[in-house]
Amino acid sequence: MENLLILKGNIIFTQTPEEFKVYKDSYIVSNKGKIEGIYNILPEKYQNCLIKDYRNRLIIPTFVDLHLHASQFIQCGMGMNKKLLDWLNDYTFKLEKDFSKAQFAQEAYNSFADELIKRGTLRACIFATSSTIGTEILFEILKKRGIGAYIGKVDMDRNAPESIIESKDQLIKGTKYLIEKYKNEKLVKPIITPRFAPTCSDELLKELGSLANKYDLPVQSHLDENLDEIKWVQSLFPKTKNYSQAYYLNDLFGQTKTVMAHCIYLNEDEINLVRENNVMLVHCPDSNINLRSGIMPVRKYLDLGVPIGLGSDIAGGHRIALNESMVRAVQLSKILNINSPGIKPLSIQEVFYLGTKSGGKFFGNTGSFEKGYSMDALIIEDDKLISGRYSIEDRLEKFIYTGDDRNICARYVEGKYIEI
Ligand SMILES: [Zn+2]
Repeated sequence: MENLLILKGNIIFTQTPEEFKVYKDSYIVSNKGKIEGIYNILPEKYQNCLIKDYRNRLIIPTFVDLHLHASQFIQCGMGMNKKLLDWLNDYTFKLEKDFSKAQFAQEAYNSFADELIKRGTLRACIFATSSTIGTEILFEILKKRGIGAYIGKVDMDRNAPESIIESKDQLIKGTKYLIEKYKNEKLVKPIITPRFAPTCSDELLKELGSLANKYDLPVQSHLDENLDEIKWVQSLFPKTKNYSQAYYLNDLFGQTKTVMAHCIYLNEDEINLVRENNVMLVHCPDSNINLRSGIMPVRKYLDLGVPIGLGSDIAGGHRIALNESMVRAVQLSKILNINSPGIKPLSIQEVFYLGTKSGGKFFGNTGSFEKGYSMDALIIEDDKLISGRYSIEDRLEKFIYTGDDRNICARYVEGKYIEI
């Protein structure tokens, strides 16, 4: 019975995007990190087990952030007057070169991990930098902290400062080293990460695609974020019909599990390619507004059945807390709705679903509390004036809109308590 974890409290999650499932004053039981069930009355077989009684607090799934750059955490909230390509040149690239210095990487990635975990994101798809040493440090830090993550060495061999690009052979060597070292890890795993098509030669993309196939590894990158970027891709890849094809033709677009950030301007051919290849899109609302990239047509994609998760996109996005990205996703959808009343805004249930169960699918059965799912949970405490007066759904909505790490009083990943 030592593998059992029983939490008691007000359990709330989204099994579907339409509604919250609520179990008031109930027990959620997991065995070896997997959920066995939720019970209003605890079955007899569990009666003698230790129960962690969280009383009137909320028990919710942990947040899943499908797109962020760990190395950019310390530049959050800077350079926000710029658009994507200038912002990358003036801020991001300059900072990223310092991650080849072990001490700097250690310090910066530790503060990133502290904040990520405090804010309740315990599954994430993360870009490190092109530095193999720096990326290895990030693997070690997150492995020690016990959270679930895909981590990518950011591969690029052109169109970035010399200080952060490597030759194709160096990149492949470093990427392979990290794959070999971490491919059998349970929670922290490698992901193939071309930064974005403009910083990768066709030959590099091809080799990354064969690595993804050879090791059956997932892929992450950026796609159709900004109109200037799209024009640039057209000039760099004149033979491809569209931006998505630059990845697709190199086996980096759904041939293995793939997640693509932004995807604001997908044309109809690209949407079809996304659907045929089951590519997961990441909506990064804060970033898209900060860098004036545009607004993702989330409703249109959802209606077409395209899988979507949420991303803070640190540091295009300025806040690492995913509940804040949920709020921004609702707000942006309301702007679209104000301008075109036919486009239904996103509901609080829908954005919670995107940031938990929908994004969680990238990690297997995570982000929900259904049977067989991973016991990844946050315990949320709110003010007595609130908890005594409002419904569980209202309390969760209030936490999403106004809550922060002060409201999160415990965190679990696969049934293990996560220290902060
Ligand atoms: Zn990004």
